[in-house]
Amino acid sequence: MISQRNCIMVVGVSFIFCVVVSWCQTNKMLAAQADRVMALGEWEERWQEEKIGFHQPNIHPMLESNIEKVLAGRKEVTFFFPLCGKALDMKWLSDMGHSVVGVEIAEKAIKQFFEENNMTYSEEEVPVIPGAKVYKSSEGNISLYQCDLFNFSSSVAGQFGGIWDRGSLVAINPADREKYAALIMSLMAKDCRYLLDTVLYNPELYKGPPFMVPDEQVQSLFGASCDIELLHSVDALTDRQKGWGLDYLTEKVHLISPKTKLADMGHSVVGVDVVETAIKQFFEEQSLSFSEEAVPAVPGAKVYKSADGGISLYHCDIYKLSSSILGQFGGIWDRGSLVAINPGDRKKYASLMMSLMDTGCRYLLDTFFYNPDLFKGPPFFVSDEEVETLFAETCDVDLLQSCDELPRLDWSSGLFIERVHLLTPKA
Ligand code: SAH
Repeated sequence: MISQRNCIMVVGVSFIFCVVVSWCQTNKMLAAQADRVMALGEWEERWQEEKIGFHQPNIHPMLESNIEKVLAGRKEVTFFFPLCGKALDMKWLSDMGHSVVGVEIAEKAIKQFFEENNMTYSEEEVPVIPGAKVYKSSEGNISLYQCDLFNFSSSVAGQFGGIWDRGSLVAINPADREKYAALIMSLMAKDCRYLLDTVLYNPELYKGPPFMVPDEQVQSLFGASCDIELLHSVDALTDRQKGWGLDYLTEKVHLISPKTKLADMGHSVVGVDVVETAIKQFFEEQSLSFSEEAVPAVPGAKVYKSADGGISLYHCDIYKLSSSILGQFGGIWDRGSLVAINPGDRKKYASLMMSLMDTGCRYLLDTFFYNPDLFKGPPFFVSDEEVETLFAETCDVDLLQSCDELPRLDWSSGLFIERVHLLTPKA
């Protein structure tokens, strides 16, 4: 008889094989353009020489057909156009009562935008970006910054409720994509709706720009902090792209929105980390102001609190804390925690966790299942039996989900499964 574990492993192996094949194909496609670099001066030359085949004389159909989804009932939204060129879409949105902020390196593009749309504008220096200028429509609802996008940040014009990314992620140099995604996410307000247009084609036939961006990469760039919905996938091959030597070109539109965070949903959150930098980075990256206090019961420990008091993060060794200091919790999310502590400390860890659970507590525990002979950790391998034993004293344990993750090359462990358990206090 095949045991349940064996079944899971067999299914896991064939699934992982498929994932690995498509992952290798994606990597091969990405490698074809990885080193391609367009200098900023080359873009400016294109504008000077009027080689701007990317400019569209009409409102982009993908923006027009998805605008309701982007607005989601909101009025007077501030839209960001990361690499704006002289896109007519900016005028279209501003005529509908929204505001537009764009960034573009070519001054000629910005001036042409205002002139061709018969708009008067003013020109100012930008104190926070040396050498940059901002061009503002006289009505004040369109501001176009002439600078390198990578010199722009939320300190210039705040965060945005909408982003239209056409000819932008696909235009920046492929090696800059992680930096680009981090910048875009820092510019997204909590309610932001980011419409992203990508192209997919055979990179062996044409070097770009536009560069091809596979869906897997959209996921890896934005998926950790955002929900991503593929709205459209259309055949967009025209004579222009046939002229580049392409035999197919698929245009895809994704709607990306920040994941709702627990604290934003009205819950309070308490966390513990022994590395202070991690705590400070959390608050800074989330643009949250915070205060810092000593913890009288634990010499040397500190607690960092968000200004609204909803998030408290303790900087100390977790074993120095207890329910008399922290109180008890209605929910625990344990990801990278039981699997990160030294395996010899698991009993001590489990007793601490059980003492922190209130009677209605729901404890969601994430573990990893792999062959520990092939990889030493962390994250350390935790078997289902061990989860049962560790928490048996006070908890019932349910296995909620078992997901196959992409094998990490350096872990060489073949099979790598993430498992989520729900722990609840025994009745
Ligand atoms: N989004 C526009 C333009 C797409 S072409 C449209 O859909 O028509 C890409 C544009 O980005 C060009 O106008 C180029 O001058 C500009 N650009 C490229 N790299 C840039 C950078 N790092 N910072 C600012 N602008 C840049």
